[in-house]
Amino acid sequence: MLAAVRAAAVLGVEAFEVTVEVHLAPGLPQFTVVGLPAGAVKESRERVVAALANSGFPLPPRRIVVNLAPADVRKDGTALDLPIAVGILRALELLPTPAVDRLVLVGELALDGALRAVRGTLPIALWTARAGHTLVLPPANLAEVVRLRELPRAAPATLAELVEWLRADALPSPPDPAPSLAAPVHDDLSDVIGQPVARRALEIAAAGAHNALFVGPPGAGKTMLARRLPSILPALEEAEAVEVLAVRSVAGLASDAGGEVLRPFRAPHHTVSAPALVGGGTPPRPGEVTLAHNGVLFLDELLEFPRHVLDALRQPMEDGRVQVSRASGSVILPARFTLVAASNPCPCGHAGDPTRSCACAAVEVERYASRLSGPLADRIDMHIRVAAVPPRDLAGGDRPESSAAVRARVEAARLRQQRRSRQAGASSNARLSGRSLERDGAVMPEARALLVSAADRLGLSARGFYRVLRLARTIADLEGEARVAAPHVAESLRYRPVPARGVAVPGP
Ligand SMILES: [Zn+2]
Repeated sequence: MLAAVRAAAVLGVEAFEVTVEVHLAPGLPQFTVVGLPAGAVKESRERVVAALANSGFPLPPRRIVVNLAPADVRKDGTALDLPIAVGILRALELLPTPAVDRLVLVGELALDGALRAVRGTLPIALWTARAGHTLVLPPANLAEVVRLRELPRAAPATLAELVEWLRADALPSPPDPAPSLAAPVHDDLSDVIGQPVARRALEIAAAGAHNALFVGPPGAGKTMLARRLPSILPALEEAEAVEVLAVRSVAGLASDAGGEVLRPFRAPHHTVSAPALVGGGTPPRPGEVTLAHNGVLFLDELLEFPRHVLDALRQPMEDGRVQVSRASGSVILPARFTLVAASNPCPCGHAGDPTRSCACAAVEVERYASRLSGPLADRIDMHIRVAAVPPRDLAGGDRPESSAAVRARVEAARLRQQRRSRQAGASSNARLSGRSLERDGAVMPEARALLVSAADRLGLSARGFYRVLRLARTIADLEGEARVAAPHVAESLRYRPVPARGVAVPGP
């Protein structure tokens, strides 16, 4: 007897259809799974046999062959337990055919037949909705798919319950899980006292999606500032929110998907490995850059990260996605993020600090700063000096501006970029090419003249030249100016890279 049921699996953050074929034949009792099962799928035999027996369906002494098609794509995880069990019941002619035909089944089985949560339910649900099927999923995964209101779904607690429903040809729709009580909130910029220059820089970074590096002594508030970048970025659009939730679903990070989705903020420690940063492993799991997709990746103590780990950031920063290679082909994971980094100016942390003297030898300072060079430095548009806030500024004064007020200006600036981007083909100024800038950037002659003379004086490379111009474009957008004028360029020049001799650079 032969039967098939529809399931789905996830590769990267995309779901694809898997057909579970079950063949029962006379012969010695045996249970084989073919079609590139890996790890947890191989073990599913044991769980399926026990779950069936404990649900009242002991296996007859037959030879059972399960094939997972397409047979050339590796399948991992536990989500195929349920479809394999249902496929066996169908092959035993214990289930009505039409009821099963419209289903996509996912779920891990406990030995007693209960359904347990699996990873990647949201991408599978998105695929199921597109294909026009009904999704059967574990109750614990319901919260992940709550946004897909149109998707027909059923969430039986046990295998036995599902069988009962199918025999009655009635799949009850589960109620939406109660949303969690506390709505998530970002830390607010009104917590940051003083730091007018760094606050301004953060706003510009948000407005143009520019990568930024904060350099300053320990305790100056670099981390505090970086953590507040997501709070001033534009709210996620629905499609972006679903992308964020899909990544979390695949990563097995439980999330309440019903309410507002905040932009991700990821802050891996400098001991992170390259695969943990950019993704990898078998099956390929999203790394920090993918978990930061549509949000912020924060690298504190940037110069403490090993060079090869930072080099791994090149591709995702260039392409907005990361390609993870594996024996059976490669997987593309999304990775469009804004990078914020923080660093001390020198090993002791006080180079350029007017209140403390630096204990490092000049050569040490130089060597330290030179660790940030090459491709990564080229992709950081803003280098910002942060000084410690003098104690007298900490007490009293007006309450600093809130994130909501800053975000309103950022959103207005982004809107201007999007209108322009119809010609330029880039969604934010940070992604504008030199050519698009020249063509659509509307740079006034005196602004160009100022930039050219500064480039001569400072020895700016072509790349440095456009870095300054890109930022100037964003500053003009923040001010609501159609054209880039000289003052925009002048401000932009303040954020060019800090030279190796950090001591010589005038602070903010
Ligand atoms: Zn020092």
